[in-house]
Amino acid sequence: MFFTECARIAKKHPDLAGVLERLDSQLREIGTAEVIRSADLASLLRIDPNQMRSALDMFAQEGVLRRVEMIECPYCEMAALPSDYQEALEEDDEYRCTSCDRPLTNETVQIITAYRRGERWQGVSDPRDGSEVTGLREASPLGIPPNHKLDEQASYTHATVERKAVLEAYKNEGRAKKIKITDKMVAEAASRTWHDRTPVQRWKRNDPRCTPADDAKIRRVLREKPHLR
Ligand SMILES: [Zn+2]
Repeated sequence: MFFTECARIAKKHPDLAGVLERLDSQLREIGTAEVIRSADLASLLRIDPNQMRSALDMFAQEGVLRRVEMIECPYCEMAALPSDYQEALEEDDEYRCTSCDRPLTNETVQIITAYRRGERWQGVSDPRDGSEVTGLREASPLGIPPNHKLDEQASYTHATVERKAVLEAYKNEGRAKKIKITDKMVAEAASRTWHDRTPVQRWKRNDPRCTPADDAKIRRVLREKPHLR
């Protein structure tokens, strides 16, 4: 077992032990657990959807996972936090899907229940680091070996987290001076040819369409802070 919690739950629910064990090893494979959809995981592992939901809920009760409401793009199924969605609507009167870039509204957006990493997940050794998990279990019984995928995901996540943080810091500085800075204002200050917030949005999510030159332009604004002068 990857999670000690899993062994405990399996003891209490022997009927679900097989499901729990497969879920456990799948979570180990996923490693980061950004968004877990019960139905997707059920069909991937060929487990009854009701059993999968019960198993995920048990993991959530143990704190390994967290049940969250998320919004989902009806076109590409990309999920996002309701708080990010609300914030964009308030700030820019518009929210665009972080994956397909389509504008989403309350009429089109879907609310889904998903699972994310819970606070107890942290106590587990990092699956990317191999050294601590070897011996616990042979790698992927499902034949999903690509560790490099996890690394890609990790560097992607790192870049987006860092970018959002520096942008947010700049906006907060503005807020402290009662100046509301939007993504659109940052874009307009970064380049004379940018007239909406799209380039900054792409930069924030590390979209491949955002070039290193674009990155430099946006960082110059965040460094020189033209809106605070
Ligand atoms: Zn989308």
